Amino acid sequence: MAAPRAEVVIDLDNLRHNVSFLAGLAPGADTMAVVKADGYGHGAVEVARAALEAGASWLGSCSLVEALHLRNAGITAPVLAWLDPVGTDYAPGVAADVDLSASSVRQLAEIAEAARSVGRQARVHLKIDTGLSRNGCAADDWGALVEKAAATPEVRVHAIWSHLACADEIGHPATDAQAERFDDAYREAVAAGLEPLRHIANSAALLTRPDLHFDLVRPGIAVYGLNPVPEPFDLRPVMTFRSSVAFAKRIPAGESVSYGLSWTAKSDTTLALVPVGYADGVPRSLSHRMHVWVAGRRRPVVGRVCMDQVVVDCGDDVVAEGDEVVLFGTGAHGEPTAREWADITGTIDYEIVTGMYRPRVARTYR
Ligand SMILES: *Cc1c(COP(=O)(O)O)cnc(C)c1O
Repeated sequence: MAAPRAEVVIDLDNLRHNVSFLAGLAPGADTMAVVKADGYGHGAVEVARAALEAGASWLGSCSLVEALHLRNAGITAPVLAWLDPVGTDYAPGVAADVDLSASSVRQLAEIAEAARSVGRQARVHLKIDTGLSRNGCAADDWGALVEKAAATPEVRVHAIWSHLACADEIGHPATDAQAERFDDAYREAVAAGLEPLRHIANSAALLTRPDLHFDLVRPGIAVYGLNPVPEPFDLRPVMTFRSSVAFAKRIPAGESVSYGLSWTAKSDTTLALVPVGYADGVPRSLSHRMHVWVAGRRRPVVGRVCMDQVVVDCGDDVVAEGDEVVLFGTGAHGEPTAREWADITGTIDYEIVTGMYRPRVARTYR
């Protein structure tokens, strides 16, 4: 087999471990594995199947198209889709048993119309904004929404739900404030005659706020083995980004490397060329600030990250063409991690792994 040019390897055993660990932390709740954005760049269908095997019973998608993609792959588990533009035709969703979220009377009416056209009830989750100020019904409009939902025979309200702003900062007072507003919203829904389930916990709240597990927890990032909170948990990163040495050569002291000649060899050294660059998900802003794992240790990338390649300084070590290069991985052997890239470039590991869904990067499953 040829050495990979650019490949993400998805370790589904690690993913199953994470899901079963997370489900075990919330024994009284069902677990929804969030697989939006093509499973945070890991492949929604493969992730969904593995998560369901490991103890998840729900799946979370952002858009209806994403939810229908799971259905088209033959996945029959409950799926919630929560954010689509005005004028979306929800009929295919209702027909395919996709749970739909409504944050307003207008959205509820669109869903009810789709249910009428399909000739079956739609299952909806009413979303209350408890402080994130994104999607979700404003508290002032909530009474009208729950009353309308209770009076609309085309929909059945399965749950009310919300999303937290600061759950990754343990002890942040906003989380308690959001929990209180969520409770108020629940009481109003019950007063309107609904008997909804409740869900609000993302990965961070699942890990640190058992009081907010309610009936269903919605972990995303933790399913992929990345920990959103400072406290340690037994989560195993699922994605490894790897390539191979395409070319190796000696250069003499004084020679410089890559565009701008921004790095100069202090002594004679061996350079290894790795055929991945910013078109493959290596941020150019990592130039002069990244290491890769090759020939048994971390080694610095020298000079600028290019569109298609980076150059690694290997000193006097023997590095062979074809040797495996790990750009980021689990960190178990000291190789760089997605978190390390995120910390250096000023983002979060969510963005690093989600950004790895690229046509030029192969994806394989272990
Ligand atoms: C993305 C998302 C989640 C998962 O969040 P993580 O921080 O990745 O656990 C849960 N709920 C909603 C509504 C989301 O959009």
